[in-house]
Amino acid sequence: MSYRPLTETTAAAFLADIPAVAERLGGEANDWSVQEVGDGNLNLVFLVTGPQGGVAAKQALPYVRLVGESWPLPLSRAYYERLALADQARLSPERVPALIHHDDVMALTVMEYLTPHRTLRGALVEGLRYPLLAEHMAEFLADTLFFTSDLAVPAVEKKARIAAYLGNTAMCRITEDLIFDEPYFDAPMNHHTPGLDHVVATLRADIPLLLSAQALKARFLAAPEALLHGDLHTGSIMVTAQDSRAIDPEFAFYGPIGFDVGMLLANLWMAHFAQSGQRPGVEDGWLLAQAEALWAGFAERFAGHWRNHAPDGEGGALHALSRSDGVLRDAAIDAWRAATWSDSLGFAGVEIIRRILGLAHVADFETIADEALRADCEKRALLFARELLVDRQNFPNAAAISQRIAQGT
Ligand code: ADP
Ligand code: MG
Ligand code: MG
Ligand code: MG
Repeated sequence: MSYRPLTETTAAAFLADIPAVAERLGGEANDWSVQEVGDGNLNLVFLVTGPQGGVAAKQALPYVRLVGESWPLPLSRAYYERLALADQARLSPERVPALIHHDDVMALTVMEYLTPHRTLRGALVEGLRYPLLAEHMAEFLADTLFFTSDLAVPAVEKKARIAAYLGNTAMCRITEDLIFDEPYFDAPMNHHTPGLDHVVATLRADIPLLLSAQALKARFLAAPEALLHGDLHTGSIMVTAQDSRAIDPEFAFYGPIGFDVGMLLANLWMAHFAQSGQRPGVEDGWLLAQAEALWAGFAERFAGHWRNHAPDGEGGALHALSRSDGVLRDAAIDAWRAATWSDSLGFAGVEIIRRILGLAHVADFETIADEALRADCEKRALLFARELLVDRQNFPNAAAISQRIAQGT
């Protein structure tokens, strides 16, 4: 059998031959309903329901869905997505969909159908709130990042894990180009709201800003600190009032911890900046408080793992001395927290800029129909992002960020 993209018509018959899938759905293939719901930029996603249950079947296409066949993209991303889902399921089983089946030739991953979940971005655009979100995502980040880092994993094993993900170069290349480079020049697929022309020209001529973006790119290229999700924006989180799950880890690789943390913070901050355009007069500090709680919860839980992790055999290569010296360990944790906070702010800055000036924009801003209002929200976000890149030492903690955003410019 060779690769072929499934359709709503052919998916059921294909899935019926996979015992684990057939068992979960119950009944016969012609009792199943299939809906293709891929709303992302890259892949097909079929939601399949039968008399007993449902599955989500995600299939990679040999090109970028958003752009078309003119932009080829290897099917191997499905292999890395499955690899990451399996690692995440081991480290943070409650925060990811369970893996049911994988087919490398078909570039297909069948997983738990998350229902009645919806994607967080759309829910935030509607003004919905999720009281457990920050705690859940702090847990996902701390558990996946600490336990794949040199604080937990012996050096030989860590290098083998880095190597296992090294081939995901095409996905890393998308990030390298789209996040760190293209927003900073007039790249062909860029676009922005018309009212921003002046601020865009200013940013693209801002040498400290360009240098900072490249310094962050250097970290992204050459700092394999831990297994990253790699695309942890609010469209990669599915929620209910009680539950939150991270989906879509096809960009997974070993990179700097602040990249995952910063991307999620950036998307919460962008949701906040968009509020005044979506529902003028009703904006409040809920999203800013969620970003604060996410950082605090993440840093605290990561530090807790550091304090409590007692390896059976050889431990992680990093800070071995601090395992038997509490004073040294607390100093090391403080230094880690400051460095990771600074990295996270920088990565948050490039994420905000690329979502307004680059190829892939976000519904938070795009759904603001009034262009002048949208440009105003985006401009405030851009000026904030610039500070994250060039003046981030001015923000020692998340409360300082909330204060800065709330006060405007
Ligand atoms: P892409 O890589 O193309 O962005 P995603 O993995 O983000 O694909 O999935 C696209 C959409 O499919 C999600 O926004 C969500 O609506 C739906 N989806 C994906 N996985 C699941 C799942 N396990 N359960 C329910 N819906 C899902
Ligand atoms: Mg997606
Ligand atoms: Mg736009
Ligand atoms: Mg994706």
